[in-house]
Amino acid sequence: MTLKVPCPQCQKEVVWQASSEFRPFCSERCKLLDLGEWADESNKISEPIQVDSAISQEMLDAIEDDILLNNNFFVEPE
Ligand SMILES: [Zn+2]
Repeated sequence: MTLKVPCPQCQKEVVWQASSEFRPFCSERCKLLDLGEWADESNKISEPIQVDSAISQEMLDAIEDDILLNNNFFVEPE
């Protein structure tokens, strides 16, 4: 009995056996292409938009603290 599966990348039939090293892919190329697509997807998801805005907020807070600490201009002397 021989099990054949379609290559997820190019739909070519792959015989499911030990010698089919890259199963379920037909070849190393298809396997790498599929992994490459997966990596692209994961890069899209993990774009550091949140990190950037967090850093900006942190910087704004730091600037605000700096103004409050060092700018005594607005503090009325008693
Ligand atoms: Zn293939």
